[in-house]
Amino acid sequence: MIDVLVIGGGNAALCAALMAREAGASVMLLEGSPKRWRGGNSQHTRNLRCMHDAPQAF
Ligand SMILES: Cc1cc2nc3c(=O)[nH]c(=O)nc-3n(C[C@H](O)[C@H](O)[C@H](O)COP(=O)(O)OP(=O)(O)OC[C@H]3O[C@@H](n4cnc5c(N)ncnc54)[C@H](O)[C@@H]3O)c2cc1C
Repeated sequence: MIDVLVIGGGNAALCAALMAREAGASVMLLEGSPKRWRGGNSQHTRNLRCMHDAPQAF
């Protein structure tokens, strides 16, 4: 039995999984791609970064 099931292992999913875990939930994350492709499209990102108004937890 788990509290939170996260489908996918990209940036958004990993943030959701970390937030849920930090809140005390047990988490299972399912990623469909082969292990060498883990991380979703984040593996392609470079040069540009999302801007936030203030420092974030992640
Ligand atoms: C070539 C390229 C360059 C980029 N460059 C930049 C950049 O420089 N700066 C920037 O800020 N952004 C960039 N981006 C955009 C950025 O990569 C994406 O916006 C971001 O990674 C999206 O994250 P996500 O978690 O929403 O989705 P994704 O990274 O797409 O993650 C989704 C995950 O879910 C998995 N999945 C899908 N369906 C299932 C299923 N049914 N079961 C299990 N797993 C599943 C996929 O395998 C994948 O790992 C770029 C994107 C690309 C393609």
